[in-house]
Amino acid sequence: MYVIFMGPPGAGKGTQAERVARELELERLAPGDLFRQAVKQQSELGAKVQCFMERGELVPDEITIRVILERLDEIGEGRGVILDGFPRNSIQAIALDEALEKQNKTIDRVINIQVAPSELVLRLSSRWLCRECQCPYSSTDTNNPHPEGCPVCGEELFQRSDDKSETVKRRLEVYFKETAPLIDYYRKQNKLFEVEGQGGIEKITERIIKALE
Ligand code: AMP
Repeated sequence: MYVIFMGPPGAGKGTQAERVARELELERLAPGDLFRQAVKQQSELGAKVQCFMERGELVPDEITIRVILERLDEIGEGRGVILDGFPRNSIQAIALDEALEKQNKTIDRVINIQVAPSELVLRLSSRWLCRECQCPYSSTDTNNPHPEGCPVCGEELFQRSDDKSETVKRRLEVYFKETAPLIDYYRKQNKLFEVEGQGGIEKITERIIKALE
C-alpha cells in the first residue's frame, strides 16, 4: 500500500502520518525529517538543503526526488509506505508515478487533511517540538500551559527555525501555488480522500484510518 498524506503546513500532517503509520504498521517517509536530520548531521545533503528550508522554499526537485526514490528502494516490497510531504509539486508527482509504474506499482490513496487557512499561521507559530521524540506541543494549549520540557519524555522543547512568522508566510504561499494543485491531480485519478483536520488528534486519526480501510 502506498499512501500520500497532503495538507498545508500546520494541518497536522506529520503528527497524523506518524500515528497512522504506527497503528497500521506502515513505514513513514518524510522528506522534511530526512532533510532536517541531514542539516543536524552537517552532511553534504544538509549543506545543500539548509538555505532552501530556512527560506521556506522547496528543496530543488532533483535533490528531493533522488533522496525519496532511493529511500523507497531501500524500504523495498515488503512494507506499505506513507509518503508524508512528498510529492509537493507536479514534477515530483509525475516522477513518483513513473518510478512506481516501472515496478508495476501505484499510489493507492491520497489523504488530504483540510484546515482553514486562517488557523494555519497560529498553529505553526505556536508549535514547539521535543528535541528527543519530536512530539509536537502547542503554546496555545490551555490544558497544558508552557511545560518546562516535553510532556511525553521530559526533554527540551524547541521551535523549528522555519516556524518563525516570515518563513511560515512563505511556506504557505509555496503550498498554495505549488502543492495545492496536486489535489485536483489525484482527485481526477479517484484517489483523493478529504479529511477534516479540525478537532481532537485521536478523532482525526480515526477519520484517516476509516478512509484507508
Ligand atoms: P516539512 O517538515 O514537511 O514541513 O518540510 C520542511 C521543509 O523541507 C520544507 O519547507 C521544504 O523546504 C523541505 N521539503 C519537505 N518536503 C519537500 C518536498 N517534497 N520537496 C521539496 N522540499 C521539501
